[in-house]
Amino acid sequence: MESMTFVLFGATGDLAKRKIFPALYNLYVDQKLPKSISIIGLGRGDLSHREFQEKVKESVLDFSRRLEHDAASMGEFLDDFRYSKLDVNRKEDFQALLQLVKQREEELNLEENRMFYLSVAPEFFDTIALNIKNSGLGQTKGWKRLIIEKPFGHDLQSARELNEKLSRAFAEEEIYRIDHYLGKPMVQNLEALSYANPILQSLWSKKHIANVQITASETVGVEKRAGYYDHAGAIRDMVQNHLLQILMMTAMDTPEKINAAEIRKMKQKVMESLRPLKEEDVQNDIVRGQYISGEVNGQYVPGYLGEPGVNPSSTTDTFVAARLWIDNPSWAGVPFYIRTGKRMKEKSTRIVIEFKNNANHQYKNSQMDPNLLVIEINPNENISFQLNSKNPLNNGKVEPVKIDFSKEQTEFGVPEAYERLIYDAFNGDSTFFAHWTEVELSWEWVQPILNAFEDNRVPLYEYNSGSYGPVAADLLLLENGFKWWLNE
Ligand code: NAD
Repeated sequence: MESMTFVLFGATGDLAKRKIFPALYNLYVDQKLPKSISIIGLGRGDLSHREFQEKVKESVLDFSRRLEHDAASMGEFLDDFRYSKLDVNRKEDFQALLQLVKQREEELNLEENRMFYLSVAPEFFDTIALNIKNSGLGQTKGWKRLIIEKPFGHDLQSARELNEKLSRAFAEEEIYRIDHYLGKPMVQNLEALSYANPILQSLWSKKHIANVQITASETVGVEKRAGYYDHAGAIRDMVQNHLLQILMMTAMDTPEKINAAEIRKMKQKVMESLRPLKEEDVQNDIVRGQYISGEVNGQYVPGYLGEPGVNPSSTTDTFVAARLWIDNPSWAGVPFYIRTGKRMKEKSTRIVIEFKNNANHQYKNSQMDPNLLVIEINPNENISFQLNSKNPLNNGKVEPVKIDFSKEQTEFGVPEAYERLIYDAFNGDSTFFAHWTEVELSWEWVQPILNAFEDNRVPLYEYNSGSYGPVAADLLLLENGFKWWLNE
């Protein structure tokens, strides 16, 4: 791998501590870091290089999935790290950064490949990009890349404005927009699942599939993120990005080749075929909810409006369910349902594919469920099939049985999303990053929902903490003769 400089804005923040440093460490242990790399962390506080390295070490010890920290190898890993104090608005700080970058490039004899990772609040994204350009940091003899965290915009217009500003400093192919759901193994596995398995490939369309259900439910509440979440809601926090990305990965047609450009093309086609929501459809196809108090995992928890930092009269959505239609030859007439919520009964991100059921009438006295393919993304990674089979212990009645394909767990687990994504970005592989066209089309689809929520044109249903969300979300499926398939 080419030698490079990795500049991390927000290196004293929560994400760096919990995800980015542990990811870098695991890449180091797996020998997936470039042999020569300079890693420069930036934050507002005063820290010596040594103090910063200690922080990195602590974060690795606290959060890394594997710990092979014999003193020598940990020392070698930390040796790559330097720190520079930087306020995004101070041009002189960018000059100091440039000097440090150059100094390390010389010391380590690095190629001028520079990767800038923005792990800071989104309001700083454009200022940083511009200062990278104006300071000369972006003028390199090698490549330059920008990795950028979510959220990408607050609505369609702000996303367009942000993109326009970023594009003054970085070309689209230099921008890597993180959607960490795209780093999850089962999401990355989706293309292989349908395309590498002729059995599934032949079933993967409206001919055999009755509906698709994508769920991302959490048991936690808003935690310490009320300041951000109360202005975002589930629709911005989960639907516009993660759920629509999973939808694209699930519904895309077979690409001619498995590469970033082809997959991107297929994903874009899904979004272009997604039926736009007319104003009147929003009420029919979208369910908005907010949690009230209740019991989660045997513990009483307060409602959303009682959470610290939440406006007591907030109408922010902590639950959203939606019915979507992809009007293309593969999926016309097949409803896709998505739902996401906080303080729900279980933590689970999964896709359930319900197959059409033509055999029901053959077996009287038997309770036959449709065939299901369940792809569990988080917290467990698993694929299972629900088939129907005669039960010899119950007079040979046909009953649903579940066939699991769970993988053996290794001691250290599999590489985490951030490891995979950072590694891909090192290699210039943007397959599992969100391209601007996808982001823009997603905001376009979501915008009528934002407008309707803003104008209160959609009811805000309360749901008990520890439940599966408002009953209205069940009715959404019932209207088409379906139900949510639960984990139990
Ligand atoms: P944080 O508040 O913990 O850290 C913010 C970082 O920004 C700190 O290092 C701070 O020093 C730096 N900073 C603040 N003001 C600055 C300024 N004026 N100039 C220079 N640096 C400044 O934030 P976080 O939770 O680490 O989140 C970082 C980014 O990652 C955000 O875009 C967030 O939306 C995204 N993100 C975070 C998480 C998470 O779990 N924490 C998850 C997904 C996405």
